[in-house]
Amino acid sequence: MHYLCRVDFDAYAKMAVDLVNAPLSELASLREILPEPDWMCDDATERDLQVFRKAQKRLRDVFEHGSAGREREAVNELNSLLESHPVHPRISGHQSGNWHIHVTSRGSMVSAEYLAGAVWGLSVWLCNYGSARFGVCADDRCGNVYLDTSSNNCRRFCSERCATRSHVAAHRARKKAAIEDTATNLTPVG
Ligand SMILES: [Zn+2]
Ligand SMILES: [Zn+2]
Repeated sequence: MHYLCRVDFDAYAKMAVDLVNAPLSELASLREILPEPDWMCDDATERDLQVFRKAQKRLRDVFEHGSAGREREAVNELNSLLESHPVHPRISGHQSGNWHIHVTSRGSMVSAEYLAGAVWGLSVWLCNYGSARFGVCADDRCGNVYLDTSSNNCRRFCSERCATRSHVAAHRARKKAAIEDTATNLTPVG
């Protein structure tokens, strides 16, 4: 992978997050997670899209297990994903001799390369920080996943945007309840 010259496990784990949060309605939507056009030797195909969709569901399960305190289930699912998407490190320079590590064998599908890295990164992440730091956004309308890197493991939202939106909604609800309360109190009884 060109943009991961040194083995950066956090960056690999982030690829798992990006995949779970990506809309995978069509092939073009893969562009959001495959950042550089020349990142892979080959273009992604419809078959890659199928593989990505299946893995997306399984990776989401890992985040849901982790955030709900089901560590054993998160570990089991990751072990099963590691079997499905094995890492085969290989030094590649393509034509330019600009050496970097690929994580799958020559001629592998785009999805195989992406998923081997993502699953590996997420597994290392679990070993380093624990599955309790896998999060699912507390905003029901969002559902994005994230890796909680806060100092006291207290993050609840995938982004500032969701946190703000949710706080504004909660504030409005409190205000509305207070007004209704006042209105009720003003209504003469009987
Ligand atoms: Zn390469
Ligand atoms: Zn969110």
